[in-house]
Amino acid sequence: MFLECLPVGPLASNCYIIADKKSKKAAIIDPGGDSNKILDVITKEQLTVEFIFLTHGHSDHIAALKEVKNATNAKIAIHEEDAPMLLSSQGNLSVYMGFGFTQPSADIKLKGNEKFQIGGLTLEILHTPGHTPGGICIKVNNMVFTGDTLFAGSIGRTDFPGGSYDELISSIKEKLMPLGDDMSVLPGHGEPSTIGAEKKMNPFLK
Ligand SMILES: [Zn+2]
Ligand SMILES: [Zn+2]
Repeated sequence: MFLECLPVGPLASNCYIIADKKSKKAAIIDPGGDSNKILDVITKEQLTVEFIFLTHGHSDHIAALKEVKNATNAKIAIHEEDAPMLLSSQGNLSVYMGFGFTQPSADIKLKGNEKFQIGGLTLEILHTPGHTPGGICIKVNNMVFTGDTLFAGSIGRTDFPGGSYDELISSIKEKLMPLGDDMSVLPGHGEPSTIGAEKKMNPFLK
């Protein structure tokens, strides 16, 4: 499997590009800025992007969506509860960052538990509300992309509209912890980790 992590935008959001090496079919997770950087990798690796998955609807994870969608014509997938954020600069918080924007609407509204096939790769959607109502994590092989749900040594903020600390903790304990200690955690900001390391070290999960 091909995997690239690109820190993008002013908040250094991690945009991930994953692809099946054989078929060159790919998915982009969270195009949060710097569309040129993202599209350069797609061109260089000669990838066909089939899906753009959004872990949630905040501006720092969706800012380059329009450019990436236009360049690839990939299908945009986001949880149904965060889908309205694409169409509202207040909902996606961009208006509060001083550069309010809206984005193309969702092609696929997720509910959780869906599976997507990208060449030989199987992606599984886990609904993990708490940071936002429609937050998702995406499991591929022994990796889980956790957006702003779980970070190395920390968890997502719950003080934005629709956030809930209790829900976030339950999401992590019920959906992510059972994935097993060896599962790699690839978060929406910062360094990677594993479920085992977070169980031991993360102060929010004691
Ligand atoms: Zn966020
Ligand atoms: Zn974020």
